[in-house]
Order: sequence, then C-alpha cells, then structure tokens
Amino acid sequence: MKKSLSMPLYLQILIGMAAGIIIGIIAWRLDAEKFVRDWISPWGQIFIRLLQLIAIPLVFVTLIKGISGLKNMQTFSRLGGRTLLLYLCFITASVALGLGLGLTVRPGALVNSDSAAQIRERYSQAVSSKAEIAEQAAQSQGPLDFLYDIVPNNFIHAAGNNSNMLQVIFFAILLAAALLLIPKEKSRPVISLIDGLDAAILKVVDFIIRMAPVGVAALMAGLITDFKGDISVFGALGAYALTVAATMFLIMYVFYPLVIFFFAKNVKFTDFIKHMYPVQLFAFTTSSSAATLPVNLETAENKLGVSNEVASFVLPVGVTINMDGTACYQAIAILFIAQALGIELTMANLLTILVMTVLSSIGTPGIPGGTYVILAMVLTAVGLPAEGGLALIIGIDRPLDMLRTSVNVTGDAVVACLVDGQEKRK
Ligand code: ASP
Repeated sequence: MKKSLSMPLYLQILIGMAAGIIIGIIAWRLDAEKFVRDWISPWGQIFIRLLQLIAIPLVFVTLIKGISGLKNMQTFSRLGGRTLLLYLCFITASVALGLGLGLTVRPGALVNSDSAAQIRERYSQAVSSKAEIAEQAAQSQGPLDFLYDIVPNNFIHAAGNNSNMLQVIFFAILLAAALLLIPKEKSRPVISLIDGLDAAILKVVDFIIRMAPVGVAALMAGLITDFKGDISVFGALGAYALTVAATMFLIMYVFYPLVIFFFAKNVKFTDFIKHMYPVQLFAFTTSSSAATLPVNLETAENKLGVSNEVASFVLPVGVTINMDGTACYQAIAILFIAQALGIELTMANLLTILVMTVLSSIGTPGIPGGTYVILAMVLTAVGLPAEGGLALIIGIDRPLDMLRTSVNVTGDAVVACLVDGQEKRK
C-alpha cells in the first residue's frame, strides 16, 4: 500500500491509461458498453468536472499572487511586455507551421464523401448547438469585438462561465496591478489573504490530481467503447489525425528544444526534455492546461530552476493566452474541413485564418475541448459551414486534444525559461 502511494503520479496515470484501455477492450468484446456508460464513464466525467471547477479560482488567485508578488510596477510591465511578445511570436510560428503542413499533406482531399456524411449524421445534434453559438458570435463580429469581449461588465458573470477565462484574467491583472500601486500597509492584508487562498486552492488541486489515475482509466474505457463501431471513421480521418500528431511532435520535440538550445542559456535542452516529460504526460491525460498548471509550476521552479517571480507570472498567464498547440491544430482543422468539402481557399482566406486562429486561440480556455466553441466561430468567420465542418472532425477530437494540450503547456514552460534567462542576465 505504502509503495503504491509513493509511486510517481505519471506512472500512476500511465497505469490508469493501460487499465482503461484493457477495460474498454474487454467491455467491447463482451458487448458491455452500457455497463461502461452507466458505471465507469461517469467517474471520468466527474474528474473532468472537478478540473473545470477549479480552473477559474486557480487562474484568478495564482495570477494575482504572481503579479502582486513582483517587486514593483516596473517589473510587471517589463515581464508582461516581454512575455506577451514571446507568446505572440510562438503562436504565429505554430499557426504558420500548421498551415504549411496542412497545405502540403492535404489530408482532407483523402476523406471519402460517404464517411463525411456518416459522421455528419452521427454528430449533427452535438454540433448544431455549438454552430448556433458560432453563428451568433460571427454575426456580431466587428474589428474591435475581440477587445470588447475581453472586458467583463460583471465579474461574477465572467467567473460563472469557464469560457470567459480571458475576462477573469483581465480583472485579475487589473486588481493585481492596483495592489502594486496602493500603499503597502493597505495591500499587505489582501496579499496575505490571496497567499492563504492560493495554498488552499493548490491543496484542492492536489486532491483532484490524486483522482487522476481513476479518472483517466474511466475516460479511456469510455473512449474505446464509444468508438468501437467507427473504425472506418478513424481510417477516413487517419491522414488528418496523423498530420496533426506529426505537427505536434515536431513542435514539442524539434522546435521547442531548438529554441531552448539556442536561446535559453540557463537551461540545458536535454534537461528540459527530461523534466518536461511528466508535465506533458499529465497534460496529455487530462487534456487541460489549467489542470496541469500546478505540475508545470512545480517543474519550472524546482527542476528547471526558473525563479518563483517569473514562473508564477508567466505560467498562469500562458494557460489561457499561449496556446501554440491549439492555434496550430485550428489551422490544420480548418484546412482539412475546406479540403474535405472541396472548397479552394484563396491567399486572402489563408491570411484571415492566420489572424483569426492566433487571436482566437488566445481566448480558448485551458480545459478539455476548450477549442470547440471558438473553432466554430472561426469557421463561420472564414465562410466555412461550422456545423458540417465540426461534425467531420469532432469524433476524433479527444486524442488530438490530448496532444495539443501537451504542446500548450510545453510552450508556456519554454517562454518561462526564456524570460527567466533574460531576467538573470540582467
Ligand atoms: N484542451 C486544451 C487545453 O487545455 C484547449 C483546447 O485546445 O481545447 O490547453
């Protein structure tokens, strides 16, 4: 008993994944899908709900703690400007890579129309509500709507919906900047309250994380029984999934290590790969950057040597703002849908996709499937049918979500190392 408790978390999660796959296959062979749906899958859903529950309090409190813990406003503007610039460069590079590979491989051209119709039919209900939201959003699309959407008119309302994460971040930054500017004797009690809250929330996260092996096993078992009848669908979309997977691996194991090798003198790239592996695995299994935040924070500070000041600012902001995997994925998905539907995209369309995916990935919450409402919006904005498009790809989203989340959290850690390196050189 004692031994299993001290087993590293990523090993427990791996065992959970393996157990889930075995349970799923057994249930599939015994035609016991209903049993999995009734008695096993809900544990996975409960795990995901717990992750979603903690996402907003975690980002809100960690961000205030991160910023208000900085020495002064100058440090905040210096770190903030540099971090945002790096995030923007990384997201743009990832989208460009996704567009390049999507246009070269052209996975959508391989999809046969029968499979497309079949998937469309299967998911038509799930997709229509998301498409409605997308259409409403696209109708009100003006040049400054992106900024307008970041500013909440009511904090409780913003915090009441996980897809409003950017609004919560906006308010947290405002409040934390104010704490830096008011006299110390006034800010001190608030900062100690935030400190205590932060410790308590991290403890709650710890409770939830302990459930990860069980949650992951349940999710895996459900995934296998859900898709057992759709092997042909996996086949038709295989090229697309492989393109996304190859691109994610390229970013994670070639692009990021090269950046660390050439630009981060404070971290060895071999150490980076070694220490980030458990974090990537955690992100892979939970599909949530927000849930991975505590593990990423711990690794950045204790294993990669990033200072607390930098880590507790760069990583919480990155959870929502820096989504390289999501942005790159959205670009490939849009190209795939256009190709599968036989729609030729012009250069102007491609530019719109580039700008829209960079901006929209910034607003994607770091939760499982966080990309969907946003992707539906972008599809409509570039003139593609959101409903049919989503129907085509939603079936194989989960494994791709797992991969892009691993990229998202690795990108945050890369930026934390770069910013920390610059700070230390000073
Ligand atoms: N699951 C992703 C994350 O948490 C977001 C997404 O791309 O859906 O980073």
